[in-house]
Amino acid sequence: MQERDAGFALVGLESSLFFESPEEIYARVFQELKPRAKAPRIRVEYCRFANADCFVRLEDGGLHLRVSDLFQGAPAPVVEALAHILLCKLFRREVPKTFARRYKMYLNRKEVRRQAHLVRQIRGRKFLSGPQGAHHNLDELFDRLNITYFDGLLGRPSLGWSRGASRAMLGHFDPSHNAIIISRVFDTETAPALALEYVMFHEMLHLRHPVDHAGVRRRVHTREFREAEKNFPHYKEAKELLKRI
Ligand SMILES: [Zn+2]
Repeated sequence: MQERDAGFALVGLESSLFFESPEEIYARVFQELKPRAKAPRIRVEYCRFANADCFVRLEDGGLHLRVSDLFQGAPAPVVEALAHILLCKLFRREVPKTFARRYKMYLNRKEVRRQAHLVRQIRGRKFLSGPQGAHHNLDELFDRLNITYFDGLLGRPSLGWSRGASRAMLGHFDPSHNAIIISRVFDTETAPALALEYVMFHEMLHLRHPVDHAGVRRRVHTREFREAEKNFPHYKEAKELLKRI
């Protein structure tokens, strides 16, 4: 084992990566981060998650990785980047920028995004309450805003209320399910109607302005998006109301 590792070091990083299995990559990264620790048994399990989630656990001298199958067959340098990210998280260390960047680059590649999108669509179960709340109907609200601000040209996605009255996530557009979810925090008698309208308007802009993907960047709120957002009358007032929610 020792001899072989030394040999690999001589032939250089790229070629050593080429020959390594995912388990070997994790073992090597583990040793890099914890040179004095005993090498753990390593088990890499590819799971059919609904997203790119990955989990790592260290117990009883074993390192168990549960990795989204989006990474199955990923090039070795990407597996290596993911190994650094997961193990740095495990040991509460800062992830080196090169690995964070490589990982993001991979997930941002067109074919990977397409695959991730499909996987979410097929595997992700979506909770959708339907548009009718206790006090507001989201279909009606959507139609009204569509006519007022979008010349009625937006196709109406599925609309629903969130399960809980979340203050952290007031609204959300899910492109995989073509759905807009609005926090139930707005479905009360006292919640200001302007705030609800503004949140819906914001999510509707996501239908109009797609996410910008370039390199490692993934820009959800593009400059055009931000400009369009300001067209909402009482924009500042609405923002103020949201701060108080
Ligand atoms: Zn947004």
